[in-house]
Amino acid sequence: MEAKSIVKEAVAKRVPALRELHQRIWESAELGYEEIKSALALRDFMASEGFAVETGVAGIPTAFVASYGSGKPIIGILAEYDALSQLSQQPGCPTKDPIPGQEGGHGCGHSALGTGSAAAAVAIKDYLEATGKSGTVKLYGCPAEENGWGKTFMARAGLFDELDCAFTWHPSYDNGVWSTSSLANVSVKFKFAGRTAHAAAAPHAGRSALDSCEIMNVGVNYLREHVIPEARMHYAYLDVGGTSPNVVQDHACVHYFLRAPKSAQVQEILARVKDIAKGAALICGTECICEIQSGMSDYIPNPTMSAVIQESLTELGAPEFDGADQALATQFFQSLPEESRQQVLAGLARRFGEERAREIAAAPLEETISPLVLTKVAMPGSTDVGDVSYVTPTAQATLAGFCIGTTPHTWQVTGQIGSSIGEKCYLKAGEVLALSAAKVIDQPELCQQAREELLAETGGVYDCPAPDDVLPPIPEGVAQRAKEAGL
Ligand SMILES: [Zn+2]
Repeated sequence: MEAKSIVKEAVAKRVPALRELHQRIWESAELGYEEIKSALALRDFMASEGFAVETGVAGIPTAFVASYGSGKPIIGILAEYDALSQLSQQPGCPTKDPIPGQEGGHGCGHSALGTGSAAAAVAIKDYLEATGKSGTVKLYGCPAEENGWGKTFMARAGLFDELDCAFTWHPSYDNGVWSTSSLANVSVKFKFAGRTAHAAAAPHAGRSALDSCEIMNVGVNYLREHVIPEARMHYAYLDVGGTSPNVVQDHACVHYFLRAPKSAQVQEILARVKDIAKGAALICGTECICEIQSGMSDYIPNPTMSAVIQESLTELGAPEFDGADQALATQFFQSLPEESRQQVLAGLARRFGEERAREIAAAPLEETISPLVLTKVAMPGSTDVGDVSYVTPTAQATLAGFCIGTTPHTWQVTGQIGSSIGEKCYLKAGEVLALSAAKVIDQPELCQQAREELLAETGGVYDCPAPDDVLPPIPEGVAQRAKEAGL
């Protein structure tokens, strides 16, 4: 039997089990590093399929690696399963209607991401069994993509080092390969310490930590003109030193995100921002401590592995939506803000003419496949897949799981991913990643080619943006709860 038939059959025969798995993750809707029920659901599923599962990897209770097979190539499949706060929504409901008592929701579709990746891993197992070929598949349970950058810490722990390549995917409004880079970033807190004093009676005795923050921010705002135009520097006050204007503030803290197209550029900017903080402390007579929280490297889409995904997607086709899915998606499209809808319609009209634009809006689930055009332009955001892409050749698919015009991190995503639209999306993702892996198993020389491309890009250097002494920000009590739950 050919690879395509094996992976399609492998996914098809597991639809009820995958549906149950997805339901468990979608309903649990747990925030980053707290994905205990979701990690358990995935672990149970992988273990029931005969995978060896190691939990609690990289010091993260909800991270795991599930392995099957032996020998090379060693192929990694990345799974995410964290949710977002405030995005609870009834499944398939196109008007805002949160589930009572539930705050979080899968507004970025990571319930589907985790399930589709698990589907891919078990379909690769079937392919290895059916062909008797050499190869190992590893499903990586990667927590906290949204808020905690789990993969950065997993990459630092060396978990991806042995891989010949990694595949992942993300639900989207289109079908294709994730072809752009992303911004590298670093999250860093500047804590100033000064001395309190009566602000009217003895201001000369005080040393203001709040003034230090303000002067630091002024300095950074002057720096903006003298860094590369693509750089982004944003900050928020975490501590303003109390609420009394008549007390000189002896503590204050400002939290920065620094971003640029390449990790090395972020490090250069960070060095200059640290100097500014030192200068602010010197001006005010305070002390400054710089605490790096974590960071993400820029994403390097691997050309060879991206082409492998594109080929698989073209062979398999887009998710197969029916009339009921399109009708439901139309209602979701109508629920989008007027401005977003007009923007989408104007964009479609420019590309296809007004009549076709109206037709597309009436059936707004994408059923075509976008051509593969890799670009060095970074999308204006960051992802921790970037850290994996520095260590091993990495490629990502996108599969339609919500209607055109839907933006991630909205209740509309939670609602659509929780419906039959989401199911068709993750089932197809499983097939696409599994067929991509089968191609690598059949042609292991692709790994060498991909590795050479990666080396040309990085010189073989990966500097993890999270320093060795920075621990993943696991909320208090989670490790205990995870243990009690059996993780
Ligand atoms: Zn996401």
